[in-house]
Amino acid sequence: MEEDCLFCKIGRREIPSELVYEDDDIFAFEDIHPQAPNHVLICPRKHLVMLGDAGAEDAEMLGRLQLVAAKIARERKLIEGYRTVVNNGRGAGQSVFHLHLHLLGGREFRWPPG
Ligand code: AMP
Ligand code: ZN
Repeated sequence: MEEDCLFCKIGRREIPSELVYEDDDIFAFEDIHPQAPNHVLICPRKHLVMLGDAGAEDAEMLGRLQLVAAKIARERKLIEGYRTVVNNGRGAGQSVFHLHLHLLGGREFRWPPG
């Protein structure tokens, strides 16, 4: 837990968000600047700066982030398809330095991503 981290504060409910899922290890909330009709951020409560900082002890949590994304996608009936994305580092577009998985859905996606 990091005192000044935006997503740690959202997880502790010190900053308001539209929470869509939470359990002991993970919380998920609506992205404030959605890039698709559905855009949810899924975070571990454990403060990790980015994916590259994860270790073997984080394997279960990393898998569970994806499973929470799939659960939310099922609930929202994103049957045409959806995408999960981790931006690792500034060069990949990471702007908040607490590991998070983006769930994007409800529109068409291109490949390769920009
Ligand atoms: P990234 O660029 O991968 O680090 O993603 C950070 C995401 O956090 C962006 O999509 C932002 O729109 C989103 N974001 C930033 N501040 C907030 C906030 N207070 N509540 C919800 N989402 C936020
Ligand atoms: Zn944090």
